[in-house]
Amino acid sequence: MAHNLNMDHLDTIAVHAGRDDFSALGVHTPPLDLSSTYPLPDVERGGDSYEALAGGGTPPADGSFVYARLWNPTVARFEQALAQLEHAEASVAFASGMAALTAAVLSHTTAVGRPHVIAVRPLYGGSDHLLQTGLLGTEVTFCAADEVAAAVRADTGLVVVESPANPTLELVDIAAVVTQARGIPVLVDNTFATPVLQQPLAHGAAMSLHSATKYLGGHGDVVGGVIACSEETAAALRRVRAITGGILHPLGAYLLHRGLPTLPLRMRAQQESAGLIARRLLTHEAVAHVFYPGLDGDPQGLLARQQHGAGAMVSIRVRGGYAAAARVAEETRLFTHAVSLGGVDSLVQHPAALTHRPVAADARPDADILRLSIGLEHVDDLIADLVQALDRASSASQPAAAPGEEPTAAAR
Ligand SMILES: *Cc1c(COP(=O)(O)O)cnc(C)c1O
Repeated sequence: MAHNLNMDHLDTIAVHAGRDDFSALGVHTPPLDLSSTYPLPDVERGGDSYEALAGGGTPPADGSFVYARLWNPTVARFEQALAQLEHAEASVAFASGMAALTAAVLSHTTAVGRPHVIAVRPLYGGSDHLLQTGLLGTEVTFCAADEVAAAVRADTGLVVVESPANPTLELVDIAAVVTQARGIPVLVDNTFATPVLQQPLAHGAAMSLHSATKYLGGHGDVVGGVIACSEETAAALRRVRAITGGILHPLGAYLLHRGLPTLPLRMRAQQESAGLIARRLLTHEAVAHVFYPGLDGDPQGLLARQQHGAGAMVSIRVRGGYAAAARVAEETRLFTHAVSLGGVDSLVQHPAALTHRPVAADARPDADILRLSIGLEHVDDLIADLVQALDRASSASQPAAAPGEEPTAAAR
């Protein structure tokens, strides 16, 4: 750190992280470096730099960045900022959340001869799909959070868990999973909570993964992924990233870094609205159940010691099954019917038909569940929109409740 700033508060870190060298550079905003290649000082040092970077290391002081698939200073700047927010030694950024998960799985399993993965369900549909296909040469045991200890094998290389879970927003006790894993690295998908609400490394996780596409970016204009971890783990991830070509584009890194200063503010404002919406929906006759952390109390104490705030995602079970849920998604006006989440604008989507479509039928979310991502619109407008859509769906669902009306798509 160039000066002795007090960087204890997350809001301050969010604004200043990755910007320590601005005075020295004589700039006030981050430089954006779009170079695909870099000059080499001489053949010897060029070769040394290549070897360091392709092996997952950092650029030698007198060397070169060599090639943008290996290293990019704008990406490194975002990584530094995100690492500070997660109170991690390092972070490694990828072209998408799935590219990040792929690198985490490869580097901890087939690359080190431990091909077995334990995956705690429910997971994001894409994560479940990646593991289920076995495409990366892994063998996967899917289980519940309290079954991890029983699933551990001699060749287990990684445990994957997501909290809050998607789309039911159940909280998983990270420290309890880490204890059961007995030293096997645990990756926590922290996309929904963000470092503002939860810092998995503090509970013993080895990696905190984000689809940066969601809250970190926050504006719906970047696809990216990032993993906060130790420097040792970062080197293993960078090595896979260099070999497989999954690095984040520098423009994406620039936009993600630009979104970080408002992350704490956005999370708090979106969370406040989500809490109000969750409580309002509890009283609507067309809503059979509201999924939102803390609504039924905090029996495990996780909102006290693990996730500091319930977040800005709300899921609902709509009375009238698939037909009624589909109708609600189609009738909202302020809420855009679209996949993704975590942006400044509100979205609604049907997980069974969309994000969780590739998940095995017995683990797929029910067809009457909708997932809401609460944005920054005025909460009264959001509530009015949901109420009108639910009213329409419930008036239309009376005749549609007949069994013949349930489309086969309900099972998707
Ligand atoms: C979107 C998402 C991912 C995948 O990230 P992409 O950026 O779409 O590749 C992983 N986990 C969670 C929880 C997500 O919401």
